[in-house]
Amino acid sequence: MTLLITGGTVIGPTGAAPADVLVDGETIAATYAPGTGPSDTETLDATGRYVIPGGIDAHTHMELPFGGTFASDTFDTGTRAAAFGGTTTIIDFAVQRTGEVVRDGLAAWHAKAEGNCHVDYAFHMILGGVDDDSLKAMDQLVADEGISSFKLFMAYPGVFYSDDGQILRAMQKARDNGAVIMMHAENGIAIDVLVRQALARGETDPIHHGLTRPEALEAEATHRAIMLAEVARDCPLYIVHLSASRALAEVAAARDAGRNVFAETCPQYLYLTLEDQLGAPGFEGAKWVCSTPLRSKHETHQRDLWQGLRSNDLAVVSTDHCPFCFKDQKELGVGDFSKIPNGIGGVEHRVDLLYQGVVDGKLSLERWVETIATTPARMFGLYPRKGVIQPGSDADIVLYDPNGRTRIGVETHHMNMDHSAYEGYEIAGKVETVISRGEVIVSSGEYRGAKGRGKYLPRGLSSYLV
Ligand SMILES: [Zn+2]
Ligand SMILES: [Zn+2]
Repeated sequence: MTLLITGGTVIGPTGAAPADVLVDGETIAATYAPGTGPSDTETLDATGRYVIPGGIDAHTHMELPFGGTFASDTFDTGTRAAAFGGTTTIIDFAVQRTGEVVRDGLAAWHAKAEGNCHVDYAFHMILGGVDDDSLKAMDQLVADEGISSFKLFMAYPGVFYSDDGQILRAMQKARDNGAVIMMHAENGIAIDVLVRQALARGETDPIHHGLTRPEALEAEATHRAIMLAEVARDCPLYIVHLSASRALAEVAAARDAGRNVFAETCPQYLYLTLEDQLGAPGFEGAKWVCSTPLRSKHETHQRDLWQGLRSNDLAVVSTDHCPFCFKDQKELGVGDFSKIPNGIGGVEHRVDLLYQGVVDGKLSLERWVETIATTPARMFGLYPRKGVIQPGSDADIVLYDPNGRTRIGVETHHMNMDHSAYEGYEIAGKVETVISRGEVIVSSGEYRGAKGRGKYLPRGLSSYLV
């Protein structure tokens, strides 16, 4: 079956131009100057719409076990919500917990996802224990399983934490096999001291989650990760969920020195703050407990993060989607902020929230598409199959209406959450039509896809590898 998308403005990293896009089966067959495509095909009118590659959310945690509970979106509910928001690929984190075998963790993740996804999916691997076995597994995953990125934690001692020696060994392995090391850069040993001290003083409210994870301990860990990667012969390093000005300065300095250092931020750090959300009265702030934490509005973080997106010191925007319901899940931490499950749900809203940056004059249209689709595809070995509208690429296409409006809230979202981190936000733009591998799965707010149609995507190496 062929489909000609007519009258729209196609946006890619090299610019925006009026073009018609021919889809043949699951892939893009051709692009044409407006009005010059074949006349014997079904057409989809995109007049007045932006035609963009489907979003790629490179950081999600469906059904993640954390803090005695599970992230509340399954691969079914989470990928359906992603589709509604214009995201047609997710990269989720398979988990090796400390003491587990890497391949068992990966098999468990395949079992959760297979047959349940509405859009295509790939995996990173979390290494919760770097040892001889897991280092060997890294080679196998890169060579045989299509997994070319590994997340390590400088935080969460006793759960996912790796010490500096383990980090260095994993980085050396990655340098050899071409993988990217993704780093949760917070000094968890120091944070745990601050947490114990705060609780001993009776400081139990959600805001203390943020106050016990100061910016300095994100910047310090970011710096240390960059230095360790240097020792590992400039192993490719990707800092996840970067939230703060001084951590960004560390990344910028490394990039200025020509290093293989990259970073992502998330919408919550661009829009939400320590005072307004995490510091909400009573226990309400628990909704916004995530790590790294929301930062102070009295400092320079949000301004600097938007600037970092423009300058490419921040290459990617992911959501770190890790939803927990308020009732019974976030409530596990009533009276002790350290027991609040860490995470914010947002997989449905990333494309819209970043488009709002375009409306607000903080991001160009091209940079919007680059940070939500093209760069994550290149960063994680999915390009050019994903992340671009060009012949041969998968027909993952979003028609975006710049004159539409999106109101975000628990009444309208599709994520399995009993609240919204962005309740009441109004976006000046709207995801109108979502096409995944040639199939229209969302049309004007109506769902037409199906559970199980999403495929596992084995990934190659990062395009940015040198
Ligand atoms: Zn993390
Ligand atoms: Zn995460």
